[in-house]
Amino acid sequence: MNCELCGREMHRYHEVLIDGVTMKVCDQCAKYGKEVRRATPPVVKATRAQAPAPVSNPLPPPPRRRPVQDIVDDDEPMLDFGKMIKKRREEMGLSQEQLATKLQEKKNLLAKIEREEIKPDKQTARKIEKVLGIRIIEKIQ
Ligand SMILES: [Zn+2]
Repeated sequence: MNCELCGREMHRYHEVLIDGVTMKVCDQCAKYGKEVRRATPPVVKATRAQAPAPVSNPLPPPPRRRPVQDIVDDDEPMLDFGKMIKKRREEMGLSQEQLATKLQEKKNLLAKIEREEIKPDKQTARKIEKVLGIRIIEKIQ
């Protein structure tokens, strides 16, 4: 049967009073009315001993990202170059190591570029573009 309020298919229903009308509604819609009959079948949960609230241990705020080093002077790589490289690399099924090898660069450097900790220099950027078939230096038209 379907919920009389939202029309969703439901396997059990609540009878609730909404604006003076008794309706058969789903779990989600039950909160909109006053329940006249419990859901079928009634959900009876054994009440557990009150578990202590989890100790919230707030993590320190993440370290501020260092400003991206300006290796490229005039040509500005796209803001999301790291994400683009990572996405494309994963699409091609390459590990960071494999891509780094193709680029003849260190994996470390590639990792930093992907995290956008550093901008690739022009030469590296061109290689990345060529290997991955994406544009990262100029914005896509
Ligand atoms: Zn509903």
